[in-house]
Amino acid sequence: MAFARRRRSGKFKKLKHSFCKLADEAHAVDPRLYSHTFCPQPGREHTVCWARAMTELTDDQVAGICLHELGHYMAGPGDPEESEYDAEKAADVAVFLEFGVEMAYKGDNLIQSVDYRKLMRRK
Ligand SMILES: [Zn+2]
Ligand SMILES: [Zn+2]
Repeated sequence: MAFARRRRSGKFKKLKHSFCKLADEAHAVDPRLYSHTFCPQPGREHTVCWARAMTELTDDQVAGICLHELGHYMAGPGDPEESEYDAEKAADVAVFLEFGVEMAYKGDNLIQSVDYRKLMRRK
């Protein structure tokens, strides 16, 4: 799935998706965490990092997390003083404003989820 970050020029820059050992470590500590953006490792400024455990997710969850992480890029890294709640909310608001997709949080772990098949039918 090719998602992109909007440049200042209004054009999009392509984002890479990659497995990341920091994401694996974060997932081992908190099973809700499958992905991150703004990875502290060099060369990953435009990468959405994934824990290998993402292979156990459903298509709806992977699509939800992809959009949510893209939302983080669109919203920007934000203020380090900002609470985590605000950054998470800002990501989902950015997704809604850009794509009109409302993020759902489902299951025991409240993982991001969207209707993947419906999303793929959109023009
Ligand atoms: Zn990473
Ligand atoms: Zn997030």
